[in-house]
Amino acid sequence: DRPDSRGVLVQHGATSSAIHDDGVLAQAARRRSFAVISHPDAGKSTLTEALALHAHAITEAGHINGKSGRRHTVSDWMEMEQARGISITSASLQFSYRDTVINLLDTPGHADFSEDTYRVLSAVDAAVMLVDAAKGLEAQTMKLFAVCKHRGIPLITVVNKWDRPGLDALALMDEISERTGLTPTPLTWPVGVAGDFRGVVDRATGEYVRFTPSAGGAHIAPQETLDADAAAALEGDVWTTAVEESDLLGASGADHDLESFLAGVSTPVLFASAVRNFGVHALLDVLVDLAPSPSPRAAVDGTLRAIDDPFSAFVFKMQAGMDTSHRDRLAFIRVCSGLFERGMVATLARTGRPFATKYAQQAFGRERTVIDSAYPGDVVGLVNGSDLRVGDTLFLDKPVEYPPLPTFAPEHFAVVRAKDAGKYKQFRKGIAQLEAEGVVQVLRSDLRGDQAPVLAAVGPMQFEVAEHRMATEFNSPVSLERLSYTLAMKTTREWTAALNAERGVEVLLRGDGELLALFADRWRVASSRRNHPTVVLEPPVAA
Ligand code: GDP
Repeated sequence: DRPDSRGVLVQHGATSSAIHDDGVLAQAARRRSFAVISHPDAGKSTLTEALALHAHAITEAGHINGKSGRRHTVSDWMEMEQARGISITSASLQFSYRDTVINLLDTPGHADFSEDTYRVLSAVDAAVMLVDAAKGLEAQTMKLFAVCKHRGIPLITVVNKWDRPGLDALALMDEISERTGLTPTPLTWPVGVAGDFRGVVDRATGEYVRFTPSAGGAHIAPQETLDADAAAALEGDVWTTAVEESDLLGASGADHDLESFLAGVSTPVLFASAVRNFGVHALLDVLVDLAPSPSPRAAVDGTLRAIDDPFSAFVFKMQAGMDTSHRDRLAFIRVCSGLFERGMVATLARTGRPFATKYAQQAFGRERTVIDSAYPGDVVGLVNGSDLRVGDTLFLDKPVEYPPLPTFAPEHFAVVRAKDAGKYKQFRKGIAQLEAEGVVQVLRSDLRGDQAPVLAAVGPMQFEVAEHRMATEFNSPVSLERLSYTLAMKTTREWTAALNAERGVEVLLRGDGELLALFADRWRVASSRRNHPTVVLEPPVAA
């Protein structure tokens, strides 16, 4: 039984919308929606479970035990995921903590699916950057950090695995500041070096939060707080060093500042050991006390949709086959304004057609809960979302359309063909669906024809997902022929013929109406520019 994970929703579902209409602002103010960005293995799944555990959403961490010694967590579920031991697909976890409703949006761990992560980041109000204490800022963390920075998402940094030998804490702060340009403002400071983790100084109160290990981290670790004198008596020099370093940080301007955190200029830092459940409580408090609640979202035309305007939301994630016994399709929406009530008939902005929301669910891992209502910041999974595409806007009464979700620049390309020409109908349907879900980008041209479009991806594993789903879900096995292009540039119709005439260059039309010129390498781009000095070639950056 998990009262906290769903209690809030059940409670609201029982009351009428009239009562809650004037409560939308208050409800939104209680919401914290965030995602964790990290490099694989930094401890994201462990942290996710620890957060949920602290919020009493699940009773024991890691209760799904997997093969090959790797602990499978509730956020790992797709067949392929389990086979590979990585997290491909995203879901969200909702729980309440201190009168606040926390939405943790799960992100895929593997770099090949960073486009998915990117879309998830369009649906959060804050992010937690999880860093392995021994490894510092790793490649995937930096890539996702860049996305957060670009979008101005406030970032909380958690240095994880402090129970193990790692880098020097001050050196880590230097690395964060040098490589991200953010000012790290530690809220806690470790007592004892990495590997000899005794606890942290709470820099706001000067108190000592002592690390009292629990067996295997499966249960909430008891937390002990001592005042400075007691800490000094207990830890001696180690305590003195920690306090001195903390004072040094204060003197160098590394104290927390809410305004610069919200502006994406500084990042509060916590030291943690997710596997031992240390620092998790502190992170929840930081989310409640410092992280922003939903703010009005900008529409395509630049106007802001007020939080208490009628319901609006956008699709940031599509997921098929989450439950193999259902073979269904979930469209995850992030509520931006107003009250969502299950059963309401919203308008799909792209088509102007009505969209019924009879089947609304919350999904995390294999678990699903029917939800009756939701507020700005919340995530709702809509079953039977076949009419929906990633980036679509739904609204009630007062029209609004949110900007399309930007795409990453593809770096891998493959021609896709149906193995069985007789199954062309299934083939076309499947490809269209994968495109709508954003599983892969689909590029077409007259030259290649409808039977052999080009799939474009950020990471090659996206192709594997597409291939797998075409065979198992759409009953149209496909063959993929990799192309030697490695980069794409945006161009315009007037340059299509000239570029196509170049060697090693091909222009194709993407589903979003963008014309992409594909090149074997950047020297080809340079040579096209030389041959056509005024040619339009722009990097399709994620905006
Ligand atoms: P993810 O790939 O980021 O989701 O990482 P996982 O949560 O799967 O963790 C990767 C490995 O690091 C697992 O073996 C975890 O048990 C381990 N791990 C996670 N957090 C900690 C920690 O705080 N301390 C130590 N020593 N190990 C950790």
